[in-house]
Amino acid sequence: MIPKYRRIVLKLSGEALAGQHGFGIDPAVIRDIARQIADVAKLDVQVAIVVGAGNIWRGATGSQMGMDRATADYMGMLATVMNALALQDALEKLGVATRVQSSIHMSEVAEPYIRRRAIRHLEKGRVVIFAGGTGNPFFSTDTTAALRAAEIEAEVILMAKNGVDGVYTADPQKDPTATKYAELDFMEVLKQGLGVMDSTAASLCKDNDIPILVFNINEDGNILRAVMGEKIGTLVGK
Ligand code: UDP
Repeated sequence: MIPKYRRIVLKLSGEALAGQHGFGIDPAVIRDIARQIADVAKLDVQVAIVVGAGNIWRGATGSQMGMDRATADYMGMLATVMNALALQDALEKLGVATRVQSSIHMSEVAEPYIRRRAIRHLEKGRVVIFAGGTGNPFFSTDTTAALRAAEIEAEVILMAKNGVDGVYTADPQKDPTATKYAELDFMEVLKQGLGVMDSTAASLCKDNDIPILVFNINEDGNILRAVMGEKIGTLVGK
């Protein structure tokens, strides 16, 4: 069993941690995801994780309520730190050494984001969780995943989706004729406005040649399958 990838960025949306509830953190779900990550880390695959916060707060929601967008976005970035700590806890319960690095300084609970230190942790076999998004409002954690992947020279971004097993020609919930793409290039994603990731993230991956594998996290063992190079989900960009 030789993994296809040796250094990955796993993008976990906040929703993926919420399970059926759609809000907050489901302890059984986070334990399960941690177990799947531990299985991959055991294979000497270097795992960096970017967590979202849609299960707690999204900047767009605050701005729809009349809040200042930047403030609402900072709240979203803070919420990613909560998810990161929950994930760290779940991973460490399984004996996986884990470090959280935040782009917003919070020295009591997380290391600051330092690129070279993050790479050193990965080389030592520690899972690194990137919290706090990019540290800038008006961005997303998808863009954070693209940025960090470029910085640490990850071979791929594994974009874990909640119940969706790839990119479709149309919304399969609404259109029964929708079919799944096995592969796709970034130009098509951008041109057709396919809702896989936001356009900033897609452009960054395109410009830096970072492929993205979109797959369903709800199917047990899928992170491992993705790392082994099995044909699951939709591969964008390679
Ligand atoms: N966010 C931000 N800058 C970043 C990353 C995230 O302002 O670089 C904020 C933004 O408000 C976003 C929220 O954090 O709505 C949560 O991130 P995201 O929506 O990407 O989470 P996900 O959809 O992956 O759960």
